[in-house]
Amino acid sequence: MNENELRSEMVRLTKRLDELGLNRGTSGNLSARFGEGMLVTPSGMGAEGLTEDDIVFVHMDGTSRGRWQPSSEWLFHRDILAQRADAGAVVHTHSIAATALACLRKDIPPFHYMIALMGGDSIRCAQYATFGTQELSNNALIALRERKACLLANHGMIAAGKDLDEALRITVEVETLSEMYLRALQIGEPVLLTAGEFLAAQQRFAGYGKPGRAD
Ligand SMILES: [Zn+2]
Repeated sequence: MNENELRSEMVRLTKRLDELGLNRGTSGNLSARFGEGMLVTPSGMGAEGLTEDDIVFVHMDGTSRGRWQPSSEWLFHRDILAQRADAGAVVHTHSIAATALACLRKDIPPFHYMIALMGGDSIRCAQYATFGTQELSNNALIALRERKACLLANHGMIAAGKDLDEALRITVEVETLSEMYLRALQIGEPVLLTAGEFLAAQQRFAGYGKPGRAD
């Protein structure tokens, strides 16, 4: 994808996140690896009226080129893309269910086999730090170890995918799992999968035995 195509994709995805109710107003932002840096959504702008020219290019050293300032969370976008070779795009939202769980500052345990698609047997909640800080970025990287997503305490969630489409799919999945877990918590203590049950799901996803699809 060339730079213009990637910018168009980012505008399309920002609007899609808004349509899906995963982002509201100006919260939430996304990035995609490009050249010697990344493209990232601008600070303080929502999906409405966003155009390709509003997307900002940020070099890995933090200097930027564009008509606006990059998202206030450009630091963790940059750090994730710098440290995770498997990530080509990052989505950050304050989606309701994931954020509600993040306010409990607890990891989401293996209550459902789809957790396996997140890279391991939990979706971790990163320790709290002020938004936009290096500390928040550091905490997020720890929570994202061997994972494609994490919660951010009293803040929201992050999804890292190989490209923008995968990052969006992970975001939708994390919000869906969060909603299920929240509802189950309201009526009791969810029964967690055993290590064996979880491993069997992971193996199924990895294509052992009969073809297994995530549906
Ligand atoms: Zn945020």
